[in-house]
Amino acid sequence: MDIEVKRIEFAYSQDRNVINSLSCRFLSGNFYAIIGPNGSGKSTFIKLLNGLLQPTAGEILLDTKALKKYHRRELARHVGYVPQSGGYKGLSTVYDTILLGRRPHVNWAPGRNDREKTAQIIKEFSLDHLALRYTNELSGGELQRVNIARALVQEPEILILDEPTSSLDLKHQIEVMKLLKTISKRDITVIIAIHDLNLAMRYAGCFLLLKEGNLISFGGEKVISEENLSRLYDVKINIIENNGRKYVLPQI
Ligand code: ADP
Ligand code: MG
Repeated sequence: MDIEVKRIEFAYSQDRNVINSLSCRFLSGNFYAIIGPNGSGKSTFIKLLNGLLQPTAGEILLDTKALKKYHRRELARHVGYVPQSGGYKGLSTVYDTILLGRRPHVNWAPGRNDREKTAQIIKEFSLDHLALRYTNELSGGELQRVNIARALVQEPEILILDEPTSSLDLKHQIEVMKLLKTISKRDITVIIAIHDLNLAMRYAGCFLLLKEGNLISFGGEKVISEENLSRLYDVKINIIENNGRKYVLPQI
């Protein structure tokens, strides 16, 4: 499913826009990284994309239908969202937590199909041994995998995650990014906010550079230039190459 963002604006209060006339188009099956300094509007933009906030001007279309025309439940069948702090906070087993992700498809009680899909994703995410463990007994990496599984079992066409790697160690950061890349290849549009530029460059294919609510640049790897990044962060940044891969190196 594609997302077309047409000149959206957003303000929490009247005196200041947090998103300024932002336009872009997310295409199905791509992996997008939203990058920018703290407070640049990444989380706000993500909440606009998943309908938690409404733009004060402009509009967002999912394929050709305006996002605001979707009912909450219908939208949840198309868009999966994992907030920055991980999402669901209730105390339940890994199995029940993931099964809850089927809620947008379920009338009042989950059926056999919902249980089968849950079991399938538990296997796929190698969570079998944790299925009956309570979510407060998991490590950060395990919990993040559960959150992503829960968003995916809902079978969304768009998956949006706010800083999915921020609380993880290096190994689990890589694991999550690999997983998201695999998911994007299944024709799911994956959009994340992320601070680690090297991780973003290694796994994501498209980048959205956001500064003070303004879109500085949007596109493939070429937008990750020394000039753009230095402007984005107000820090002199070099891009070095090693084994044919580019890495970001701030001049500190
Ligand atoms: P980022 O995710 O890039 O760090 P945010 O989208 O969280 O940025 O915040 C963008 C701006 O909006 C910041 O100046 C922040 O203080 C402000 N902001 C965020 N959430 C709220 C809110 N609920 N009410 C008022 N201002 C907010
Ligand atoms: Mg944020």
